[in-house]
Amino acid sequence: MSRYWSDVVGRLTPYVPGEQPRLDKLVKLNTNELPYPPSPRVLEAIAAVSADTLRRYPDPESTELRQAFADRNALRPEQVFVGNGSDEVLAHVFLALLKHDKPLLFPDITYSFYPVWCDLYRVRWRTVPLTADFRVDPEDYRGDNGAIIIPNPNAPTGILLGLASVRQLLEQNPDSVVVIDEAYIDFGGESATKLIPEFDNLLVVQTMSKSWALAGLRVGVAMGSQALIDGLQRVKNSFNSYPLDALAQHAAVAALGDEAYFEHACGRVIASRERLSAAMVKLGFEVLPSAANFILARHPDRAARDLFSALRARGIIVRYFDKPRIDEHLRISIGTDEQCDELLGALGELLGPVS
Ligand SMILES: *Cc1c(COP(=O)(O)O)cnc(C)c1O
Repeated sequence: MSRYWSDVVGRLTPYVPGEQPRLDKLVKLNTNELPYPPSPRVLEAIAAVSADTLRRYPDPESTELRQAFADRNALRPEQVFVGNGSDEVLAHVFLALLKHDKPLLFPDITYSFYPVWCDLYRVRWRTVPLTADFRVDPEDYRGDNGAIIIPNPNAPTGILLGLASVRQLLEQNPDSVVVIDEAYIDFGGESATKLIPEFDNLLVVQTMSKSWALAGLRVGVAMGSQALIDGLQRVKNSFNSYPLDALAQHAAVAALGDEAYFEHACGRVIASRERLSAAMVKLGFEVLPSAANFILARHPDRAARDLFSALRARGIIVRYFDKPRIDEHLRISIGTDEQCDELLGALGELLGPVS
């Protein structure tokens, strides 16, 4: 606390991201980064940026990048908004589209940044419990609400909501903005972007941080009806006219041009996820069915907190959330098969022979 702070700052409880340890040689399975590099075209595009490009301000509208997202999703560029990572896009979404008299709804177990933005922007909110088996049931999102936001697949459960259920949410709530946060959709889900022409209350948010292996570049995108995108543009242009630097714009366009590389990398992660999940089940873990690049798992006889610490002591970093309903689980990002094997080896030693 400082007497120089505003009231708002004193009251905030900021989001705490997974740690980025400086040590090399760690098996880092805690922040859902891709274990593979981005397409080689990305570094080529960055190397090709001229000094003059850096001297000037970047394109404030990210015209080429929005066109590339529009082309990829059969939309018009006016239906695409980009920002400095999807966290920034989402922050603008909370202020522009989710702040109403009636409460914003989101699951009780979900991306823990949502309540932080609610605090920052004074958005009314109410959580809706996931079912006992950690699923989103669209029936629970009927009735009075100002807006709805759901990650699909959900984080940190990894569980996918089918497109028919997303459609049901939209049909049930024609007067509310429904935001689907698709940070992990490329690891086995079907994007709701194809519903955009039918529903002007649908906003789909995606990121290049996970499936495109570009967490360090900071590129996020929102897609929806032009009315929703115009609302976001108004906030962006009242906040920072140049959220994406020139390197990010060029590199992201180059990445989107290499769909084959992207598909291949996602395919490898999916295969490793299925292999890791099966091996964890053999070790006695209960593993939620994941359509993301991480799994959420619990061992019936071992405290998750203890496993987390013991893995850490062996140089393997996973994520532990000290929160109701998931404080007996570990969230494990899918690494390379070699990294998964190191994890499995360590867990095997920690748990001893399976009886
Ligand atoms: C990782 C993540 C984001 C944010 O990603 P950026 O790196 O800011 O683009 C948003 N939503 C969910 C659910 C995430 O897991």
